Amino acid sequence: MKRMMSESEVLKSLRNVLSRVSQAMEKRPGNQVTRLVAVSKTKPVPLIQQAYSGGQRHFGENYVQELEEKGHDATLLEQCAEIKWHFIGHLQRNKVNKVTATPNLYMVETVDSAKLATALNKSWEKLQQENKLNVMVQVNTSGEEQKHGVPPSEVESVVDHVKTKCPALKFNGLMTIGAFDHDLTQGPNPDFIKLKECHTSVCSSLGLNPEEVEISMGMSNDFEHAIELGSTNVRVGSTIFGARTYVNKATNNPTPETSTTTPSITNDSTNEQLNDRNDTKTNTSQSIDNIAETLQTVHVKDKE
Ligand SMILES: *Cc1c(COP(=O)(O)O)cnc(C)c1O
Repeated sequence: MKRMMSESEVLKSLRNVLSRVSQAMEKRPGNQVTRLVAVSKTKPVPLIQQAYSGGQRHFGENYVQELEEKGHDATLLEQCAEIKWHFIGHLQRNKVNKVTATPNLYMVETVDSAKLATALNKSWEKLQQENKLNVMVQVNTSGEEQKHGVPPSEVESVVDHVKTKCPALKFNGLMTIGAFDHDLTQGPNPDFIKLKECHTSVCSSLGLNPEEVEISMGMSNDFEHAIELGSTNVRVGSTIFGARTYVNKATNNPTPETSTTTPSITNDSTNEQLNDRNDTKTNTSQSIDNIAETLQTVHVKDKE
């Protein structure tokens, strides 16, 4: 039987992360507050409820279908009414309506083109919401072609587009995923430095107050570093909820919709999988024992 992180373990690791976030905030100049987004992708509703019971309100999902399901989950709607969803995955234009229709959607962090912004704007306008939809522009800081995000040279024009042509959207800031295996002994993460440079240049060229433009960077293994460099929004998943394993339906089933009974499982180890779970990353060599072990790995050094 699979062992998942228990509910009380989630509370414990959430507290641990929150205290690490506030310690890191003290180490940086300025007095901006960093928001913790608990990335709950692949994790079940009870663990979300548990984090919510510990005061957590912002949760992140990066698959449209999973956001839809959890966003409409009756238990969460009833018992976690103040939940604030962040969409943090790659978004195709034909799926924007599914995202915008999610109850308690708070922010889309991954706007990576003017066209996507336009589509979100239209969709949000149709819903006639009172508030604007918060969005961030995702920047491809590493320059690798397969990564999503706007190249740094085009960030200004996409931000300008959001601000001037998308009245239903509120531009909140810039986001990057970046390399998560960066070795900090080699100096600061170049993706984070790049995002900060984009932040500075966009703010100056568009005349924006830098304190009002957020920076979303930092995940489980580098959120403290990101905060020290100025991140105002860290997205932390496995350190709170335990390691993830993916059920890749496409692998064993040519028709993924029809069966969920014979899944193969892949390990969450590549950056691509952050965005493209269904891009048939297969790992047939991994045994079930191996996976059970992975499930038990809790990436938290909790000294309590
Ligand atoms: C999964 C994911 C995270 C969280 O990753 P962890 O390493 O588990 O903290 C953060 N940001 C994005 C965009 C993600 O897809």
